[in-house]
Amino acid sequence: MRSNREEKYETWVPRTKLGKMVLEGQISSMEELFMEGLKIREPEIVNTLLPNLQEEVLDIGLVQKQTDAGEKSQFRAIVVVGNRDGYIGIASGKASQVRGAIEKAAVNARLHITPVRRGCGSWECGCGKHHSMPFQVSGECGGVEIVLIPGPRGLGTVASGTAKIILGLAGVKDCWTKSYGSTRTIPSFSFAVFDALKKTYQLVTPGDWVR
Ligand SMILES: [Zn+2]
Repeated sequence: MRSNREEKYETWVPRTKLGKMVLEGQISSMEELFMEGLKIREPEIVNTLLPNLQEEVLDIGLVQKQTDAGEKSQFRAIVVVGNRDGYIGIASGKASQVRGAIEKAAVNARLHITPVRRGCGSWECGCGKHHSMPFQVSGECGGVEIVLIPGPRGLGTVASGTAKIILGLAGVKDCWTKSYGSTRTIPSFSFAVFDALKKTYQLVTPGDWVR
């Protein structure tokens, strides 16, 4: 069954130059887009370039917002999107209804999608395939820290439920994790994992210089 959201995307009329280029096929991969350093302002760009994108709601909570009329409760959803092959995005969205919060978070997650570098950084394995992390990375958010450690093939993701979902959608099949701080706070924990995954492209390794 098709969701309403998918139907909406089918009648996409791009509002940005980049959107037009993607729709017309002048840009046909996410790699091109990131190589050029182009900023994604329409979620449909991501849906077009990553047709296998999957989406999961990680958390829904109530947050208080101060308005002129006093305090108002809003729902805040945390949504992760990924193609299980090197692309991941996580974001939050707030609205007075749960459904609206999820929709906003799903759009924001697409706008924040980022490539994840994978590899075989495990000394026990050394297969050279892209099943794990290329090296150890850590991420932090709101006092929560997570360390992603390369693991051998067949290990699986040794992680909590939330981290397992995120790593799976990113396409990381095998890795160990260590976490510190209030790891049960799902929003902070999720963004800490996202931060660690983003660092796989921020860190330059000696191998990059040789290439
Ligand atoms: Zn390996």
